[in-house]
Amino acid sequence: MMTTKNAVPDHSTQNDESTVSVSVEKVNLLGMSEQKLTAFFASLGEKRFRVKQVMQWMHQRGVIDFDAMSDLSKALRAKLATLAEIKLPELVSEQTSTDGTRKWLVRVAGGSCIETVFIPEGNRGTLCVSSQIGCSLDCSFCATGKQGFNRDLSAAEIIGQLWIAAKSMDSLDPTKDRVISNVVLMGMGEPLLNFDNVVDAMNLMMHDCAYGLSKRRVTLSTAGVVPALDKLGDVTDVSLAISLHAPNDELRNELVPLNRKYPIAELLRSAQGYLAKLPDKRRKITLEYTLIREVNDRPEHARELAALLVDTPCKINLIPFNPFDQSDYQRVSNNALYRFRDILIEAGYTVTLRTTRGDDIDAACGQLAGQVNDRTKRSQRYRQEQGLEAVRIIPG
Ligand code: SAH
Repeated sequence: MMTTKNAVPDHSTQNDESTVSVSVEKVNLLGMSEQKLTAFFASLGEKRFRVKQVMQWMHQRGVIDFDAMSDLSKALRAKLATLAEIKLPELVSEQTSTDGTRKWLVRVAGGSCIETVFIPEGNRGTLCVSSQIGCSLDCSFCATGKQGFNRDLSAAEIIGQLWIAAKSMDSLDPTKDRVISNVVLMGMGEPLLNFDNVVDAMNLMMHDCAYGLSKRRVTLSTAGVVPALDKLGDVTDVSLAISLHAPNDELRNELVPLNRKYPIAELLRSAQGYLAKLPDKRRKITLEYTLIREVNDRPEHARELAALLVDTPCKINLIPFNPFDQSDYQRVSNNALYRFRDILIEAGYTVTLRTTRGDDIDAACGQLAGQVNDRTKRSQRYRQEQGLEAVRIIPG
């Protein structure tokens, strides 16, 4: 039972038997999937429909105080207040770019901060959510990697980013116009290395009693963790984006070190396998390709890419590299960008260009850095190379 499992003996009183006390760690309901909530309410002897009521209160009305959940009995509200909580990460700051892009800095347990970005574009609004504190993959062109890695985010911390953004833009109520129409897991971290929490959070994003987004509007982006991608289609049907960035293994090994473990052919095979599991056979993968000047932006790269992808139902998203302090790479020139795009279009691909948004508040792709209490030696090494002191975050 939940209550027993979470009962933590208070060691400070362990020697004196007469005063042994048990403090109960409250269960956080925020990130729980429908299944987990159902098990929790069953353990309290409560009926199943309570799950939907509580989900709607939390996710659609933004209510986190059980006492305000007026259609629950008083007894249940009191029981929930002693055993459970609805706990959000702490909002530290909010910034708005001149182009309307917004960024929230959110502090999570342990003191590190993560970033969440909202990008309005015509009648669509995309929220870019983080899945880990920092990232362990260390792709050579990504600012997040330079920060090192601390830990996976919990499902509550992932869905909490959507809750905070939606609340701040008055967009929780699904019967009103949606300000946030799309969510992409393209913030800090590699979502497939935090599989269970990411799946729970994404399934809440799509749940009718929570955020009700369509599966086409929730996108998981991965650098290519093949064993996890092989399993993904068994548990969800979100849209898939693959961070490819290179048309051959030699170049991709340099840009995305994970490629040495899971080379391109295996990754594309796994991505095709994901599509094959989806009932709708028209769905496509998005292939992301960050264009870096004179690294991967030549016409021969575009031709090699066109040949590589012939058997993969996909559209290609070209992303001009966004520069950041610890990187010597440069943005692709406009000429090279359009030349690259045109070669792919001529080869028959659908190609989109991701315009740079929010770079005045460091909210553009690859600029998300947050404040990672790094547990690896990586951020220290990068900072030393630049003659800077190591950063240490004091847990708050
Ligand atoms: N780990 C996941 C999700 C995070 S990155 C993944 O690799 O897909 C989200 C996207 O931003 C990726 O396609 C990534 O390659 C791109 N990106 C990272 N750094 C960038 C930079 N400096 N400029 C432009 N795009 C970048």
